[in-house]
Order: sequence, then C-alpha cells, then structure tokens
Amino acid sequence: MRKSHAHNTAQLPVPTMEEVSPGIYAYVQLDGSWGLNNTGFIKGQNGLTMIDTCFTEARTKSYLDSVRRVSLLPMNTLVNTHHHGDHTHGNYLIKNSAIIGHELCRETVIATGLQSLHPLFPNVTWGNLELAPPTITFKEQLDIYAGDNDELKIELIYMGPAHTTNDIVAWIPERKLLFSGDLIFNQGTPFVAMGSVSGSLQAIKRLRLLGAENIIPGHGSVCGPEVMNDIEDYLTLVQDTARQAFEAGITPLEASRQVDLGRFAHWHDSERIAGNLHRAYSELRSEPIGSVLDLRQIVSDMVSLNEGRPVRCLA
Ligand SMILES: [Zn+2]
Repeated sequence: MRKSHAHNTAQLPVPTMEEVSPGIYAYVQLDGSWGLNNTGFIKGQNGLTMIDTCFTEARTKSYLDSVRRVSLLPMNTLVNTHHHGDHTHGNYLIKNSAIIGHELCRETVIATGLQSLHPLFPNVTWGNLELAPPTITFKEQLDIYAGDNDELKIELIYMGPAHTTNDIVAWIPERKLLFSGDLIFNQGTPFVAMGSVSGSLQAIKRLRLLGAENIIPGHGSVCGPEVMNDIEDYLTLVQDTARQAFEAGITPLEASRQVDLGRFAHWHDSERIAGNLHRAYSELRSEPIGSVLDLRQIVSDMVSLNEGRPVRCLA
C-alpha cells in the first residue's frame, strides 16, 4: 500500500523562497511530509506580515535567515493558520510580533503545550522551544493590510472545523492568492483526525468560491486550484470507506488495511488514512464535530500501518 522511505534528510531538497506575487513570498519545505510545512510573508510599508513558523528551532531559524536575505523590515505581524506545531512552534523566535490566530487556535496551543507530539515523532530534534500562542484572536474574519502603502487587503477567514478545529486562511483578493494552511496538501495525504471530514469537504467548497489562482498550501509546492479536486475525491473515499466499514463492524485499522487508495496511494504519509477513518467513524457516531479523539490509538494504528516504524518525519 505504501512506499517506505529511509529516515534521513540527505534526500530532501533545500527549502526555497519564492516571490509568488510582487512582495508576497512563499517558503516551501519539500517534500512536505510530517513536520515539513510551508510558510511565507507579505511586505508592508513598515514591516512584514508573516504567515506561520516551523516545527523545530533549527528550521524556523533557517526560515528567518531566508527572510532576512529578502527584507530587513521588522517582522511585526505573525498569523498562525492553525495550532499544529509545524506551524506554530517557532512563534517565539519572532520577537515583538503580534500573533494573530483563531480563538480556538490560541486555546489549543495552550492546552496542547509543547510535549504532546513527542510520542508521534520520537526522532525529532526540537531545540529549545518556548510556548507562544496567538495574542490577538478572532472568530469569523479579520482583515489586515500590508503591501505598498499598506493598501493590500489580507482577509483572514475562519474555515474550520476542517483540518483542525481552528483553521484560518489568508486570502488576498487583489492578487487572487491564497495561503491555505493545511486545508490543502499538495501531493501529500490530507490529515483530518483532529478536525472533521465533512467540515473539510465544506471548507473545500468555500475555498473554491474564493476563486484563487495561486495557492500556497500548508505542505507541498505552490499550486493552482486544481489540487482541490483530488482532495475532495480523497475525502469522499474516506467517507465512503468509513460508512461501509462501520456498518460491517470492522475497526478503522482493518478498514485502512483493506481500502484500495488507488491514485492516492502514491501521496506521501498514506498511513494517515487510519486517523482520517477514526474521525469519519466519530462523525458516523454523531459525536460533536471536532471532538477530541484518542490520539494514542490513532498514532498506534498509523505506526501499525507503517509496519511498526514511527511515521516518517524528516524535520
Ligand atoms: Zn496541520
């Protein structure tokens, strides 16, 4: 069902900084697998608006060095697309910045702390991480401005629950450009165990209506809106598989072993199917959307699918 990968970073491409639109940059860390997220920033009149940070101290420091090769303006605004550590762990390294996120992002960063991922990623060198949750929160939408003369509008829009309970996107209508956070993985398996399968499908519908031409996904290369088709098809497969397996009384792990992932089998981190099925089962049991599932069970199932090895994390 899946390819195995050697656990070393030698085969990884060097992260790239790309100006995707004048004054708007994407920092892409391929191959986009566990912990290898994308970030970016938008130049303003007097400062930079940063979108997300990285998983480890070393990765955020490398990212900030790359930013400094483009601009020396102060990094005075930081947006978190959601609470996950690969998007927020490095917040503390951007000193004196306002940190903006959904109110549930702040809550979840604080509740989750910095240790919760250690069982899932036993081989990661974290550095001296410090907890730095959002300091400015909102519920549905917040508009901020950057660009020349600070006239470029960036709409921060709540799209959760989807990948998590607290996903927001940064949509720049004038450029038809979207920072999607982890609502979009390009060439990676979506992971919705901490959010919602049905909510993710809803979010994709809403994202389509924005009319983005360029998307900086949470993981994987910069892309166009066509990647949404595959994500929708994959999540529909998750729902269909869950419905049949749930009725047949088999566990998410068994269903994960039996399902034919078809053209999605070549995406990295295909073991995420187990977590996604756990979430789909929860929705079939009519549990509240975004309710907390047993993460240890999900991790254990993903490790089983990975033939007993920890999930692949090269961060
Ligand atoms: Zn995430």
